[in-house]
Amino acid sequence: MSSPATRILSLDFEPLDIPLMEPFVIAIGRLEHVRNVLITVTLENGVIGYGEAAPLEPINGENQATVLATLQSLSPVLAGRDVMEWRRLSRELAGLFSMQAAARAGLEMALLDAATKCMRVPLYQFFGGMGDRVETDISIPIVEPDRARELAQGITAQGVRFIKIKVGSGLDADIARTLAVREGAPGCEIQLDANQGYSAPEAVELLRELRGQGIRVRLFEQPVPKHDRLGLKFVTEQGRVPVAADETVFGASDVLDLAHLGAANVVNIKLMKSGLVEGMDIAAVCRAANIRLMIGGMIESKLAMCCSAHFAAGNGGFDYIDLDTPLLLAEDPFEGGYRVEGPIYHLSHIEAGIGCWPKGRPSGMLG
Ligand SMILES: [Mg+2]
Repeated sequence: MSSPATRILSLDFEPLDIPLMEPFVIAIGRLEHVRNVLITVTLENGVIGYGEAAPLEPINGENQATVLATLQSLSPVLAGRDVMEWRRLSRELAGLFSMQAAARAGLEMALLDAATKCMRVPLYQFFGGMGDRVETDISIPIVEPDRARELAQGITAQGVRFIKIKVGSGLDADIARTLAVREGAPGCEIQLDANQGYSAPEAVELLRELRGQGIRVRLFEQPVPKHDRLGLKFVTEQGRVPVAADETVFGASDVLDLAHLGAANVVNIKLMKSGLVEGMDIAAVCRAANIRLMIGGMIESKLAMCCSAHFAAGNGGFDYIDLDTPLLLAEDPFEGGYRVEGPIYHLSHIEAGIGCWPKGRPSGMLG
């Protein structure tokens, strides 16, 4: 039964532009600025839900303009609807805008933030309360070895245990960067992310070379182009380290394909690729297929990262946590959210919803 109190009164969206501390370079491109979208859903009862869409055009084909246009055309679909039917709404949105995943993810986030505020339950408990914290890795982009060593020293001083190195810029440069990171942070475990930058034989060669230098990586993420599933399988079989599919997986059916092929050990779930409901389905298929779980993000601010932290902590079973992009931003436009203790994000103090809202605006809790 639909309640007037929890009906959507208005849907607002606006550019969320945040400067990066320094340009972020990975195998698929160079980023200078984050151009995300802030979504605000206001209910009849005064509750406000906040969401963030973080499009990354080289990965999901969306940008700020397409997200704003998608939300514009979704407004009439949502007006007057009951936010407590968020799963029904999510299904309708997916039917209408199947390719606009970041726009849908931001909207689902705002809907679920509002719904769980109405329920007076924090999002991690809504997802099942398996845990109330996550421990993130920290990433080092494609930089010169000296800079990588310096970054690694800074990271290890914060108590971080897992460093993710961006690779895919050529074998020699990648090996030099990885060795420099080990020098700077000898106690940290190393993960690699090639963002599709290698062929399968090159990826296996990189792992072999590193093994020769005494480095066995904790995880190798998306070594090959996203559609090269047989290449991914080759690295999984030959690489002798856990291999993660990231750009290859946008939905649960992608996981089914990988499971049938035996092409990956781990899947990286990002809400911006799938949305929240499909993200839960991806996790379910992974569990059934004995594929381990990772959570990551695009270049997201604290609001979206906090939502992903709730998702991973509450659902549980995530062995790899990669939620560090707020550290790349020169500004934090939000209040509340997780409490940071070194690499640990704590959620237990959050009373309802995501618990993170734009600075200078209402938190949007039920009065
Ligand atoms: Mg990745």
